[in-house]
Order: sequence, then structure tokens, then C-alpha cells
Amino acid sequence: MNNFSTFAKYPFLEGAKQYIKDNGPSVKDLLQNVLYDRARTIGIERVDNALRDGDVGERSLSNDSDKIMEILSYPLARMITVGVNDNYIKRRYALGEAYHAYKNLLSEPVSFLLQVSKELNIKSEQSEKTKNIRVFFKDYLHNAPTRYKKWKMVNRDMDKGYVIISTRDLARLILESLKRKIEEEINSLKSNKLIEQVFSSDIRRYQQIINKQKKEQNTIPTGKLSIEKLPPCMKDILNAIHEGENVSHMGRFAIVSFLNSLELNMQEILHIFSKAPDYQEERTRYQVEHITGTSSSTSYKSPGCDKMRTYGICPVEKMDDLCKEVYHPISYYSKKWKREKNKK
Ligand code: SF4
Repeated sequence: MNNFSTFAKYPFLEGAKQYIKDNGPSVKDLLQNVLYDRARTIGIERVDNALRDGDVGERSLSNDSDKIMEILSYPLARMITVGVNDNYIKRRYALGEAYHAYKNLLSEPVSFLLQVSKELNIKSEQSEKTKNIRVFFKDYLHNAPTRYKKWKMVNRDMDKGYVIISTRDLARLILESLKRKIEEEINSLKSNKLIEQVFSSDIRRYQQIINKQKKEQNTIPTGKLSIEKLPPCMKDILNAIHEGENVSHMGRFAIVSFLNSLELNMQEILHIFSKAPDYQEERTRYQVEHITGTSSSTSYKSPGCDKMRTYGICPVEKMDDLCKEVYHPISYYSKKWKREKNKK
């Protein structure tokens, strides 16, 4: 489907893969030949940008050479993440590719989004009569961030097994599906000596970044909870609890284990939950005791950003600049504290 320029913009498309298969260099040349130096540099840039900004970034595509290098940089970036061999970087990179595609898709015609959806097995169509975009309900449920009010089925209009959505919503469903697809693909790839040799210094650099973030995660500030310093994910869960929305088990687990990491005691955690309209003290106490280890031998660790994303409770659209620097919601909170302290 589509043309050369489209493949440079959306290198995950089957057509782009076929293009590389038919016209591209061998993997050995791609990794070693001086002709592809630029593609390798862009490959590293893709991963750098994804780690730092949550978006693989935009480059000039003004001539054929730009476009070819852009297309080739995509498999190279994937090889780099495989070489680093860390789940966080793989997830972060997959999100960076999917988010970049999402941004571009917002200015494409509906027909193009429908084609991309089809490649990602999202059954969707546009009604000729009403021009409404409709997505088959199972594909909607599989990809929609239904923890948000807007995405819940009860808040959507249905038409014969299809959910009616906007063009922006379709782009968002594509983002979720693409992120999962890229992650699955990367996880099935194996690194090799040549990849590790060619990108050795960058692989080491990424491992250092990740280790630093992991260390920061262990520097936990304690004391009373400061709501304004909470990361977007925890704010969302708290808001949902306070509005009486049905928060998923994973959402409850994430907030309780997060508050426990901040050394809030049982009463303080219960107090936060008590603002929910459907608050049931005994039930909540039981759940909190279980997660914090008061009633069992295990105290569960609060999940990191990659796990939060896997469970669909990292609000990708609300991620801010600080989110782009961290590996864990606790690190976010910790950094906010430090920043405020440094200001004084
Ligand atoms: S990136 Fe991490 S800290 Fe930010 S909202 Fe997502 S899970 Fe929370």
C-alpha cells in the first residue's frame, strides 16, 4: 500500500518491510557498510528520542536519500533495543514509535487511517451515508483505554456490533495496537554479536541510563502525601476513586503499593480511599492489608512505568516532561520533591 514517502513516515507498514526486502541491503551491509552510516545514526536517534521524549522524533524527508535512510533506520533502531536487552527500553521504544505514528495520523485522511487499522487487524469502516467511523466492538475493547470515562462502552454509541468513534479516537486505537505489535515483534527478536559490536558504545550508554533510573527509583521521599507532586497515572487513579468510578484491580493495586512505598500508614491510606462515594472500610482495609503485607508475608512492590503501561493505567496522552525522564512513578514523585527543594 502507498508510496515511498509514506513508508518513510510509517516504516512499520507491511509495504515498507517489503520495500526493504526487495530493495534494501543485507543485514550485514546495513550494520557495517559506510553507505548506511546515516541510517545507523538515525536508528540511534530514534531510540534516544524515544527514551527522552517518548517519541522517536521527526527528521527532514525532503529527498529520496532522506526517505531511504529513514526507512532503514527503523529496523536498525529495533536491533539496538534488542541489543540492550532490557524490557524498559523495548517498551519505551515501542511507545515512541507508536506515539510518533499517532501524531502523524492526526493529519491524515480517514481512508488512510482505515488502511492502517486493517493492517493492525482493527476492523473499522466509514459509513458512506453518515460518514461515521465505526470499529467492531471486540477490536474496540481490545485497544481502547477503557479506564477513562470517555472510552467506557456505556458512553459510546453502538451500531450493529460496531462502536462509533472519531478520527482522533481511531488514531488512538492504532497507537495502542501498534505499540503492542512492535513490543511483541522486538521481544521475538534475538541479538547477535555483530549488533552488539556495531552499537557497543550506545548499548552501554543506554544500560547506564537505565541503571541510573533504577537507582533513583530507590530514593523514596517519605512524609505526608503531596497530591500536586503525584504523577499523572496516580492522579488519574485517585480522581477515579474519588468520583466513584470502577477502578480496576490493577489500578487499586498500583495506588496502594505506591502510597505504601511513600510510607503512608494504614490510616492515611484508608483516609484517601474514604473519599470515594462507594467507600467500604472493611473491604478496603482487607485489600490494603493484603497489598502492603500487613496481613500476609508479602509486601508487593509498586509497579514501574513499563508495567503500568502494560496494564493500561499509564495515561499516555497526559504524560508530561518529567514522565519522559523516569522509569517509575516513585521516581517521578521523588524528582518533583527534589526540584521543589532545590528551588527554595
Ligand atoms: S510515564 Fe510513568 S509516571 Fe508518567 S504517567 Fe506513565 S506510569 Fe505514571
